[in-house]
Amino acid sequence: MRIQAPRGTRDLLPDELRIWHVVEERARELFRLHGYAEIRTPLLEATELFVRGIGEGTDLVSKEMYTFTDRGGRSLTLRPEGTASVVRAYLEHRLESGPQPVKVYYLGPMFRYERPQAGRYRQFHQLGAEVLGTQDPAADAETILIPYDLYQSLGLQGLDLRLNSIGCPNCRPRYREALLDYLRPRVERLCPSHQRNWEANPLRVLDCKSEACRAATAEAPETTAFLCEVCADHFAAVRRYLERLQVPYRVDSRLVRGLDYYTKTVFEITAESLGAQDAVAGGGRYDGLVQELGGPSVPAVGFASGLDRVILTLQRQGTDLGQARPPEVFVAAAGQGVQEAARILAFRLRRAGIAAATEYGDRSLKAQMKVAGRTGAQWVVVVGEAEWAQGQVVLREMATGAQQIVDAGQLIATLTRSREAATDGAPRR
Ligand code: AMP
Repeated sequence: MRIQAPRGTRDLLPDELRIWHVVEERARELFRLHGYAEIRTPLLEATELFVRGIGEGTDLVSKEMYTFTDRGGRSLTLRPEGTASVVRAYLEHRLESGPQPVKVYYLGPMFRYERPQAGRYRQFHQLGAEVLGTQDPAADAETILIPYDLYQSLGLQGLDLRLNSIGCPNCRPRYREALLDYLRPRVERLCPSHQRNWEANPLRVLDCKSEACRAATAEAPETTAFLCEVCADHFAAVRRYLERLQVPYRVDSRLVRGLDYYTKTVFEITAESLGAQDAVAGGGRYDGLVQELGGPSVPAVGFASGLDRVILTLQRQGTDLGQARPPEVFVAAAGQGVQEAARILAFRLRRAGIAAATEYGDRSLKAQMKVAGRTGAQWVVVVGEAEWAQGQVVLREMATGAQQIVDAGQLIATLTRSREAATDGAPRR
């Protein structure tokens, strides 16, 4: 039997990756404009990092991690998300004693042992950012605006931004009590798993996707009614930024997010046509996490976005992003005696920054011209034995069939000139 990619993982082939590159490049540009620099952390971390950072009782930690013991007896885990690693790196490199805030973004694979389906994989890719070291609500707004603007600019349709504030250690206990009071008489209406553990973390019942929990919590008290003054002011400021920047959103008092470390702002963005797995980004403020991981008290906010889902949505919506770029030139050899010369010429063109295709092997000129047509190259350079002996080649424009004889030494200059004329002197990107 042939070996296949593990369940829930997949190969991204060159055709599909073109659109990934467009999305990634656009994201990098947006991060640059907002003053974020890239960070790369290991795919493997000490298991303890996620247990402490995400919370032992979460599904993510208790059911979905890829954890193993290495040959040295250490428990390691393939990262299921990026925030804990960024915070670890921030502390490990003492970035908290440098200028604040620290604004970083990341892009790469994450691993979760989930049931695979369309838009849900065991190895998937996230793009995310964190701002460490500021309480300012402008930072919250920034981490919402970046994914929103990214998707808008990519043409993603049916975006829905939901926003909430879940308070802080000052005001959340009061909300928690109110929620427990609400749930107590409704326990038998919850899903089987929450019937057992609703008391330990009642906020997670609100986050539960089951019909039972959704129905039972339809009238649950709203987090925003319990915010302390600091949290209420913060939330109002975040909303003002979004309104003044014309980012449409709605407040969703059920939105609490699954992870333990969130405080104040939480948000989620969904896109239409994704069905059940419709979340394309989520994030929020996590003022307690740095301390939880053994550091000083440092406020922070961030988001993560699932690239696989963004791209799946774009594909379903029929995007034409990421068209293939044909080579500019195809170099053909008319005769075996000039085969090497033709290939060397192709190498020289590439060194000069001109995308040049040529054939391998020993094929007739007719066959090579056919390949040239298929590549979509604008020009064909034919290296013929007689011309080559004179230091010349034939340059043929594919669209018109017009041919000219060019000195081989002048070819790069001729092609560069015609490219500049075509783009009206504008530098090619
Ligand atoms: P989370 O850290 O769970 O909030 O996830 C952030 C984003 O990552 C989600 O909004 C999804 O777009 C994406 N995501 C999470 N889990 C998966 C998965 N198993 N497969 C694909 N994308 C995922």
